[in-house]
Order: sequence, then structure tokens, then C-alpha cells
Amino acid sequence: MLINPGCQFASDNTAGICPEAMSALIKANDDSAKPYGEDPWSKQATDLIRDLFEADCDVFFTFNGTAANALALSAMCQSHHSILAHEWSHVETDECGAPEFFCKGSKILLIAGNDGRIDGTKVSETAISRTDVHFPKARAVSVTQSTEVGTVYDLETLQGIGESARKHELHYHMDGARFANAMATLQVAPSEVTWKRGVDVLCLGGTKNGMAVGDCVVFFNRELGQEFDYRCKQAGQLASKMRFLSAPWVGMLTDEAWLKNAGHANQMAKLLSSGLEKLGIRIAAPVESNAVFADFSVEQTVSLRERGWIFYEFDGIATPRLMCSWKTTPEEVDAFLTDCRETLPEQNNGPHH
Ligand SMILES: *Cc1c(COP(=O)(O)O)cnc(C)c1O
Repeated sequence: MLINPGCQFASDNTAGICPEAMSALIKANDDSAKPYGEDPWSKQATDLIRDLFEADCDVFFTFNGTAANALALSAMCQSHHSILAHEWSHVETDECGAPEFFCKGSKILLIAGNDGRIDGTKVSETAISRTDVHFPKARAVSVTQSTEVGTVYDLETLQGIGESARKHELHYHMDGARFANAMATLQVAPSEVTWKRGVDVLCLGGTKNGMAVGDCVVFFNRELGQEFDYRCKQAGQLASKMRFLSAPWVGMLTDEAWLKNAGHANQMAKLLSSGLEKLGIRIAAPVESNAVFADFSVEQTVSLRERGWIFYEFDGIATPRLMCSWKTTPEEVDAFLTDCRETLPEQNNGPHH
């Protein structure tokens, strides 16, 4: 029984703008303000991000995560360098080559790893696998937190990657499009997950967390952020009405809306996955944030789509992927589970037919 057509579990960016981000936008619209980040909202958002990470970091607001990632990596790598990343990473599979383009040719070296994660050992192995002049020189490692398959790196693994990075002189990049979801799971200070583990640059996602638009690039290693404002401008990422990118961050970071939104999405994913498991449907990746990979049969997938549910397959795991957002409701989860029960293949083949 479909109760919310058009939205559901396709992605966490199908949801709209959360009230906290919206009211900040509306407030930012009250008065005129200086352009290009010279406005009070951008200053306040930057201060809040510095407070959040307990660090004197540099912060740049971009329109989306692809730009944030690609530009952050371009601040680390020259054209003859390489970037180590998981084979399912967004920078590899979903950015149309933007990192390679903005790095002017840097190669992404792919690392396989269970449940979307890499580790320090694999980083070291890959970094030293080729060190001759005929192959691009390893210069950066990129991790996604939480990962493309909804798993979350623990502090120990992040630390291990940081140690390998230091040993092999790699800069450490974190794609945090869903950083909030990881934080809601780990329940530690954001500094513990980032610069204390050696992370140089975090791309902090706002869009999937409940904002209209806008991710930001946080340089803990401020040297890497030198002249980054020029990179942003050149790439078309310097908003003239910057306050409409930055004000929502003020809304999100005041009273921890960012964490509440993410915690709610994660909770909905748990509700969904435990319901599916009760129906005997295998969950194909550990549910540690807001993604659920459900191993529906092909017939059931078709039936669910016929009933109007929208969700996508994911390349790496090859099962349908169900994403929960700040806006997913328990009623929506229940309605989906009801349809899952009614479309179970066993019922079609059962003795009553
Ligand atoms: C959504 C997402 C991004 C950013 O994508 P944009 O569409 O460019 O905003 C980056 N990394 C991951 C892992 C994502 O899921």
C-alpha cells in the first residue's frame, strides 16, 4: 500500500529541505548581505564548523559533493599522481571522472575490500605496489564515511589508514557525503573521526542530511587549503549569494539538527532491515547507517515496483538498495514491509494456489 508516491527509498536526496535548514534560509532572505562569502551567515557557519570539529580549520562551501571531492583531491594531487580508493567509491563510480579532470589526469587506484571499506594494510600494499617512474606516484587516499554501502569505519580502521598514509606520504581525504550518518552511529566527537585519525580534508555533506544544496570542504591541514578559494571560483563553485549555501549550515548545526536527522534516518534503516529479516529476506551488507541492501528475488523486485515503490540496484552489491532519509516515517516503512510480505515468492507458490 503506497502512501507517499514519488519519494520512498530511492535515495536520501529525494527528501526535501528539513525545517531547520528552511527556516535559516528564510531568515537569510530577510536582509541583503555582502556577496561571495563576505556575509555574516558564512562567517557564523564557518565558526560553527570549527567549533564542531574543535579545530582551526578552513571551510569552503560548494554546491555539491562531486565538486567538493574533486576540488579537494585536486588540492592534493598533481597530474602524475594517484589516489587510492575503494573500488565502489563515489569518486570512482559516480562523479563522471571529475576528480581525474580537476587533478588533470591523476589516476584512481582501486582497492577491493569487504562491505565497502579499505584498511591500512591494503593502503600500504597498494602504495608500494608500483613505485617506478612508469606508474603514477601514490599521493592521496580517499575513504567514504559512511560508505557507499552504508557501513561505517571504526576509529581503529581510520587510524590504521592514517598511519599508512603518513608512512607513504599520502594525503588523507574523507568523502563525508553521509558523515552525519556515521557520526550518529559512532557517537563520538567529530574530531575523533577526522583530524585526530590523520584526516587532512573532509568533504562534509549537507544535501543528504536535509539541506537543499551544498556540501563543504573542511581543511584540517590548512596548508592544503592554500588558494583553494581560487580553485572554487575557477570551477564555478563560488556562489555569489553565498549566504543561501551557508545559512542552512547554521540551521543544521544549531541544536544538533544534523545529528538528529541522521540518527532518525539510521533508525528507520534499522526498522526496515529488522522487518525484512523477519520476512526471511537476506540483508546483504551490515546496516550501520541509513542504507539497507535487501536481497529480493527478481520476481519480488518487479512486484514491488509494480506496486509503485521506487528503489535502485547498486553495482557493487547487486541487490536493491533502500535508502532512508531524515523524512522517512515509520508508517512508510510499515507500508513497504506490508507490500514485501504480500509479494514474497513463497506465497505465490504456496499450497493455497
Ligand atoms: C551523494 C554522494 C556524493 C555527492 O554527490 P553530488 O550528487 O555531487 O552531491 C559524494 N559521495 C557520496 C558517497 C555520495 O553518496
